[in-house]
Amino acid sequence: MKSKFFGTNAIHGGQHPDPSTGAVMPPIYQTSTYVQAAPGDHQGYEYSRTRNPTRTALEASLCSIENGSYAMGFGSGLAAVDACIKLLSPGDEVISTNDLYGGTYRQFVQVYEKYGIVFHFVSMSDHSEIESKVSSKTKMIWAETPTNPMLNIIDIVKVSKISQRIGALFVVDNTFATPFLQQPLNLGADIVLHSATKYLGGHSDLVLGALVVQDKGLADKLYFIQNASGAVCGPMDSFLALRGIKTLHVRMERHCANASEIAVFLKTHSAVGRVVYPGFEDHPGHQIAKHQMKGYGGMISFCVKSDLASDASKVVSSMKIFTLAESLGGVESLSGHPASMTHASIPKDQRDANGITDGLIRLSIGIEDVRDLKEDLDYALSLIL
Ligand code: PLP
Repeated sequence: MKSKFFGTNAIHGGQHPDPSTGAVMPPIYQTSTYVQAAPGDHQGYEYSRTRNPTRTALEASLCSIENGSYAMGFGSGLAAVDACIKLLSPGDEVISTNDLYGGTYRQFVQVYEKYGIVFHFVSMSDHSEIESKVSSKTKMIWAETPTNPMLNIIDIVKVSKISQRIGALFVVDNTFATPFLQQPLNLGADIVLHSATKYLGGHSDLVLGALVVQDKGLADKLYFIQNASGAVCGPMDSFLALRGIKTLHVRMERHCANASEIAVFLKTHSAVGRVVYPGFEDHPGHQIAKHQMKGYGGMISFCVKSDLASDASKVVSSMKIFTLAESLGGVESLSGHPASMTHASIPKDQRDANGITDGLIRLSIGIEDVRDLKEDLDYALSLIL
């Protein structure tokens, strides 16, 4: 079924009771292979790298929430990134946002440059920077919005017009926003990418990636890569991601509400320097976020006033409810120090130029009671006053 309301699609979209038992949730089809009555005579499933019913159920749900027609589940978000780059050939060029997840950057530069793919990293808030890198070899434009960790906002419609004009594929990593807040395929993107490890799964209990597209020809190429390269997600993780998606809308509302309250709290704290949160009117992407997104998300980045790594480290190590850990998007609040953790693979001069200074802390605001979160932050920040 397809509803015009997100919450109904998150729970029911593309889902059917299991045909053999009537089970309401799709069973975890923990099988590698499927019986064939005669060679080639099967029920649509031959081998679980190619297709698995639990993964099929997840892929149908992903289509529903992202308003796509075809989806592919992968073993991680980076495996989904990898599948996109495998659409390219040596000599092809990619224009990417310069503020992106460190692991994506590492894959681009350390894995794919040596195969002859050329990557240009630009600030996508300034469209002239994109235009300055366009050539006949540009085959892909790559954006995250909000970006990780600086929460820059990219205007998806405007960038999609450039990609359409030059005939390049436009990939949007929608991990931070989730389809509850924005649906890039509706705004002109060709491929939506997720690290479902984050908000879609939502409980920090799985690693999974996904792609969603509308075009059949593009889907066929990606299904080929998914099967030929083999980085698929297993049935247990597919089940967990599917279960997570069913509460995405409820969790996102609370993530957004808590984050907005904590952003204001941080802005007025005397141990805090700059606070990066797209919900603030002085955030450079605020106006775009206001019309592109349904809310401002659950992520906040801020600098300790001294901008020293030692102070940032003291804060993230002293909190009791915020857990110091890689990742984001789970029900529990996490803190991180991008310069030494998620973004350590980006050279320091480039990190500094992008605002990822040594004193920057990234918070993934969970759905606990916000009063406890503020108290926890206040205690840790008091140690560096
Ligand atoms: N994209 C973004 C925006 C991310 O934050 C991450 C991981 O943190 C990834 C992609 C990679 O996903 P995974 O860790 O599931 O491979």
